[in-house]
Amino acid sequence: MNRVSTDSERLFLALWPDAEVRRQLAELVSACRSQVSGRPVAPEKLHVTLAFLGEVPTTAAGAVAACVDELPGLDTQVRLDRLGFWPRNGILWAGSREVDPALAAFAADLHARLARLGFRLDRRPFSPHVTLMRRVRRRPRLPSPGIDWAVHGIVLVRSQLASAGSTYEVVRRWSG
Ligand code: ATP
Ligand code: MG
Repeated sequence: MNRVSTDSERLFLALWPDAEVRRQLAELVSACRSQVSGRPVAPEKLHVTLAFLGEVPTTAAGAVAACVDELPGLDTQVRLDRLGFWPRNGILWAGSREVDPALAAFAADLHARLARLGFRLDRRPFSPHVTLMRRVRRRPRLPSPGIDWAVHGIVLVRSQLASAGSTYEVVRRWSG
């Protein structure tokens, strides 16, 4: 049964593709699906997680928003030129050969500020990627992608877990 809670919510901060980048990512998912089995990510859900806050009290969203308000905007060019596969968790993803320095600096600043507020974040190094498919068992043989993404800001997303899969809702946007 789904847990319906009004006093907590599952939140994450993310880069949210514009329609054109989303279309290109969805095309990449289709190409991957034609070669390997697994669970493709629906086009409307494709994103890069910047900070996963997890299940937090509903009052936390205000603190997160205030924290992002204090940051300088994010305005950068991200080139997705790498198709990656993590065999251990079966995740097929798109990312960059070289992580954009502006994005890395922004994420580091964001993580530091959220940690100071008491949020417990993933301690693994920030590895920006768009998850394309899950439960994949082998790497597809495809040419490297070449998707240029002009990033202008970030979003706060609420994720609702259900037996049929999660649904995302963008609850706030900051333009770069
Ligand atoms: P499902 O778990 O049902 O497959 P989902 O992974 O799409 O759904 P969430 O688990 O709410 O939905 O995750 C939202 C985003 O946060 C995804 O990009 C996910 O990869 C990322 N994420 C989830 N858990 C963590 C975590 N512990 N650390 C870092 N990122 C996470
Ligand atoms: Mg998950």
